[in-house]
Amino acid sequence: MISQTKNRLAAIRVRMARTGTGLVAIAPGSHMDWVLGFHPHPDERPCLLLIAPEQEAFLMPALNAEGSRAFTDIRFFNWADEVGPATALREALAAIDASTPGLVALDETMRTDFALLLLDALPAGTKRDFTPKTLGGLRMRKDDAEYSKLKMNAGIADRAIQIALSRIKPGITENQVAAEIREHFASEGAEPAFWIVGSGPNGAFPHHSASERVIQEGDAVVIDIGGRKEGFPSDITRMVAIGMPPEGYEEVHAIVEKAVQAALKTARPGVVAKDVDFAARKVIADAGYGEYFVHRTGHGMGIDGHEPPYITATSDTVLEEGMVFSIEPGIYLPGRFGIRLEDIVILREDGPEILSALPRDLNVVRG
Ligand code: ZN
Ligand code: ZN
Repeated sequence: MISQTKNRLAAIRVRMARTGTGLVAIAPGSHMDWVLGFHPHPDERPCLLLIAPEQEAFLMPALNAEGSRAFTDIRFFNWADEVGPATALREALAAIDASTPGLVALDETMRTDFALLLLDALPAGTKRDFTPKTLGGLRMRKDDAEYSKLKMNAGIADRAIQIALSRIKPGITENQVAAEIREHFASEGAEPAFWIVGSGPNGAFPHHSASERVIQEGDAVVIDIGGRKEGFPSDITRMVAIGMPPEGYEEVHAIVEKAVQAALKTARPGVVAKDVDFAARKVIADAGYGEYFVHRTGHGMGIDGHEPPYITATSDTVLEEGMVFSIEPGIYLPGRFGIRLEDIVILREDGPEILSALPRDLNVVRG
């Protein structure tokens, strides 16, 4: 077993003991990647990593056993299509002494048929929960290796933004700018994940992607992009104006920037996530634009591009050192323009460290 897996299983078990959890069940996906550094092919065949207080086991479709063996020495309980998984699951639970766990924590992204198979194999009355108090809680805090990969990806995204800024001009389409961004990610060995180029009124749709709209003199353009390399993502939003920005633009940009700074100033270990959201939201509301800030302030980022902690008006998650999340307030004025400024931060003891090296100022491109 690789030492990272050993350490992470040990950390999960500390939290299991603290929360009285007798079993953590993980399906192929990003939680499994975090523990093992890989996951077997995810399909309809029940496949579960079962973590008990002392031992662990894998319920494994026979079809995937050989391929998975190259990555882990955890004990497999294989099952073949003609027999089905029920017996192998019972044997696995018995072998790791988890037949009566009392409280089971389920991977919240698990397929419901896997979940019901497992719950049906446990005694009636077994309490159930998802993973935020065990594995999920640990995943929010990034270690140095994870930080390095996120930082590397942030650098690639910065350069993709700079490429976009150097190519954008009146007369080319959003799709053409998006293609340059994708090409840049690929040139650095990253897979492009998303490429929002929202020009003029399109910028007012927070999840606009890119279109055949021709970029024009006087447009403000939202560029929100991300890629993925070595299993980790990037995500950044910057603004560019083509020539003179539209009327009222500078005032609104300054308000969004002030909202970012309020969130950065509030985000400290021990603060609850909703207070960070409130800090950003208050700046925008006080300036009279509250109804135009139509989304949360941010989301966590790690193996998944969006993961806990979510920086929302209702989140009671206490922020801790090592957590990585976005701060991305925005103001969207229908028919006119939208402004979003997004940075990914890692929370340090004394506050957030921004991963990007690019300023959030408006970039002005001359036509
Ligand atoms: Zn984001
Ligand atoms: Zn984004």
